[in-house]
Amino acid sequence: MAEGLTGGCQCGAVRYLIVGPTPPCHACHCRECQKQSASAFGLSLTAARQAFSVTGPVRRWDRPNDLGARTTCVFCVECGTRVFHIDSLTPDRVSVKGGSLDDITLAVPSAHIWVSRKLDWVLLDPAVPTHATQPDDMAAWRAGFSSGCCT
Ligand SMILES: [Zn+2]
Ligand SMILES: [Zn+2]
Repeated sequence: MAEGLTGGCQCGAVRYLIVGPTPPCHACHCRECQKQSASAFGLSLTAARQAFSVTGPVRRWDRPNDLGARTTCVFCVECGTRVFHIDSLTPDRVSVKGGSLDDITLAVPSAHIWVSRKLDWVLLDPAVPTHATQPDDMAAWRAGFSSGCCT
């Protein structure tokens, strides 16, 4: 594999590579992210789709999102780990699930969204920006975020 950030699913059947700089990361405390991560919050690294490549057996499941668009959720067929999402409004970007990185210490959120749904015991660094829900124009925020303005 070429140089870059690597990761994969829990069983190792699905592997991915993100070339270029480490994409910015945000944490989302919404109910959907709690469900998809089966944990307290979701971690997303927003990468350019062209910088991202994946190998292995994946399946897609898609759901409506609150932007009035659809989120395609991609997971390993073998072990079910959610690996990345694609929002139909920003098809040129992928939202890679932070816990799947080989080096999870690189998944450092530079913003927290949906903190109104945050579990009380999750304590946030006051220096990191938060949004009670999500930025008004989430698609634009993601696009700007992805170019590095929030890092
Ligand atoms: Zn797997
Ligand atoms: Zn969320």
